[in-house]
This record gives sequence, structure tokens and C-alpha cells, in this order.
Amino acid sequence: MPKEPKKPSSKKPQGPIQSVKGMRDILPDEMRFLERIRKAFLNIAVSYGFEGIETPILEDTDLFVRGVGKATDVVQKQMFSFRTKGGDPVTMRPEYTAGVVRAYYENGMFNLPQPLKLWYWGPVFRYERPQAGRHRQFHQLGAEIIGEINAVLDAQLIQFFTIMLKELGITAYTVEINSLGCKVCRSGYRQAVVNYFRPDIRKMCPDCKRRLKESPLRVFECDKEKCREIAEKAPQTVDHLCQECHSHFKEVLEYLDEIDIPYHLNPKLVRGLDYYTKTVFEIWPEDQAGYALGGGGRYDNLVEMLGEKMAPAVGFSAGIERLAGELKKIGAPIVKDKDIPTVFLAQLGELGRKKSLKLFEELRRAGFRVMESFGRNSIKSQLKIANREETGIALILGQKEALDGTIIVRDMTAGTQETVPLSKLINELQKRFALTETNKSA
Ligand code: AMP
Repeated sequence: MPKEPKKPSSKKPQGPIQSVKGMRDILPDEMRFLERIRKAFLNIAVSYGFEGIETPILEDTDLFVRGVGKATDVVQKQMFSFRTKGGDPVTMRPEYTAGVVRAYYENGMFNLPQPLKLWYWGPVFRYERPQAGRHRQFHQLGAEIIGEINAVLDAQLIQFFTIMLKELGITAYTVEINSLGCKVCRSGYRQAVVNYFRPDIRKMCPDCKRRLKESPLRVFECDKEKCREIAEKAPQTVDHLCQECHSHFKEVLEYLDEIDIPYHLNPKLVRGLDYYTKTVFEIWPEDQAGYALGGGGRYDNLVEMLGEKMAPAVGFSAGIERLAGELKKIGAPIVKDKDIPTVFLAQLGELGRKKSLKLFEELRRAGFRVMESFGRNSIKSQLKIANREETGIALILGQKEALDGTIIVRDMTAGTQETVPLSKLINELQKRFALTETNKSA
């Protein structure tokens, strides 16, 4: 069970309130990257036949203790757990898969045609030491395929991930892959690992000593140099796979070859969560080994563990902030809202302002982005803003125009303007923007 939190200090310094440690704001510049990632992700998800799911942020703590595993770092150190006012132990989800599997079982989704292909996108919470690329609230996107064991789906999920990276323009990465085997072959492998490390156990860090007792494979995740050195020649899972797991892994690799996805066989890749079986994979930037943009694998026993019904499954999740960081690193162009046809709506006088609200909505419905400065009265100061925002066209709705049912259309670049009937405005704007587009492409 996760540790009880320390009592908060009663002496809090006064002053402006700041965000909670490890929780960060996502400002508009980064949001633009996030929107771009979401678009690329959803495009692929929909064409590959995935449907969306969202589960609650708060789940029964036991879901993660049973699903993710009691001995994992996530459960032992990283969960935001507390009791509700009614005394129920709850946890803010540290990952999605366990919740998705709970939802699958609880909502009888095993009665639907299988496999079920689901995508998700949202915040997750882990109490970790905040640093670059590691926050206490971050966002994950991911996909799960539940109800099918065929290796072709493991390959399809890796294909999904790499195509998303390609669409985003991220090309410098490696696909790290390994197989952890199943219940049958894993126990033999686990024993081989324990036997290998036992003579050196005294030289290893306290965490690894614990890991060797509780969950030996996790020793490979240690970042202490001494432990890494000792692990250098440790036995490899691939040498301990049973016939079925061996063939399954071979098939996954053959499918990847078939779709030209290069991979690196990484015998030390074990992933931090207990539920994985057979294939596991991670995507690393070429210049940052171990800094996963995302990862996943097969979890054939999790559904049964949580819901008593057997259903093999495979999934992946990616860190959205880390993907945004890669976009920033490669200097990906940001599609600004300005690329949507934009007009500035300036108004003058009480009647002009009243009519503006309705017009604003008509313009939006016609596909325009409308900027305004409703709080200002002076036309000069409103046009100054239109200039600053680089809107090529400003619309001026004054008292006279409001009474006549007309509007002034001003070309901000040429400085020319003409009065058009309100009923013809949308038509006129469409004509003008089509013209600008033609000029751009000429
Ligand atoms: P995991 O379930 O631990 O494999 O996490 C999936 C992905 O989420 C990782 O590959 C990272 O991209 C991202 N991730 C994990 N932990 C954090 C964190 N603390 N802050 C930001 N991103 C994270």
C-alpha cells in the first residue's frame, strides 16, 4: 500500500499562491503543439478503427495495487492516494490501462464484438521528483486492443505509434523491443535472474535489494552505476521464453520487418508495471536513451486479474508533454489560429455594438475567426489592434451602418474600404479570402 502522506505544515508563508509542486500550467504556445498532436493521434486512431474512452481520474486504490502491482515503483512511491470523506481509499490514476480494463469488465464490454479497440487522452498523476520531462501531473494518449492475442496487433500498435511520429515530423527515434514471456516462462527466468544477482547483492543499492526480493526483473530499471554494471551480463529473457512466447515474439518481429519498422532488441527492457506479458516496447529519441516518448506491450492476464474473465490485450501510451518537447526540439512549425481566415470586427456607438454580437456569431458559423475589442469605443484604437493582430480585413459597424443594414469592409493592407449590404457580407468575404489564397499560392 502507498505510504500515508506527511501532515502539512501549519506555518504557510503568505503571498501570491503558486501552482502545486510538480504541477504546471500549459500555456497557449505549448497548447498549439498539444492540439497538433491530438489531431495527428485522432486521425490515425479513427482510421485504424479505434473508439474513444474516458475513465474517471479517481479510482479505487486497490485497482492499481492489484493491477499495476504492489511492488512497482508506481504503487510504492508515486501514487496520489487519499481517503474520501466517507473513508474510501482512492487514487488519482497514475496510468490509464488498469482503469480501461476495469471499465471493460464493469460495463460488460466483453459482450461486444472482439477485439475492442479503444483510444484515450487525458491527465495522469505520479508523485515523482519533478525535473525536465517528468511532472506530477502530465498527459497521456494511448490505445488498447482487448480480446485478441495475435501478434499482428502488437505490430499494428507499434505501427500506429511510429506513423503518429512520422505525421508529426519526428523521425529521430528508436523502437526498443523485448519479450517478457508469460506466467509459465517468466518464473524460470525470474529464478535465473535471482541466482545471477545473489552473489553480488551486498554491492547493490537498497532499492535493488528490495526489488530482488519482491520483483527481481525490476533490477534492470535501476539507474545506479554499480547496479547497472552488475546487470551487464545478466541472463536475457529471450533465452528463457517458452515455445509459444518465442513464436509469438518472432511473429511480432516478422510483422515489423514486413512494414519496414526498424527496431532494437533490448533484453533489459522490462517496463515498470507488473501486468506486462510477452511483447514490451518503448520509443526513445535517438539522442536520449531511456527517455521514453511512450511505451507499451501485451498484458494478457490483467483482464482476468481484475475481472475474472480471460481476455488477452495489448496497448501503448505516450507522454504528451514529451512529444510536445520533441516538436519544439525539431522546430516544428506551429499552425497559428491566424491561418484560419480572420477578420477584425470594429464597432462604433451603442447600436453598432448591439448588432455586432449577432454578426460575430454569423461570421463564426460561416467559418471565420473573428477578433474584436468590444470594450473600446474609438475606431482608431480598434483598428490599431487589427493592425497589431495582422488581420487583413477589418469590418466597421457604426451607428449609420447599423441603421442602413450595411457594413464597411476595410482592406488593412491597401488602406481602402467600401460599404457593402450586411446581407452580402459573407459572400464578399468569401470572395476576398479566396482571392488572397490564390495570391498566396501564385
Ligand atoms: P509509462 O506508463 O511509465 O511507460 O509512461 C508512459 C509514458 O508517459 C512515458 O513513456 C513518458 O513519455 C510519459 N511519462 C511517464 N512519466 C512521466 C512524468 N512523470 N512526466 C511526464 N511524462 C511522463
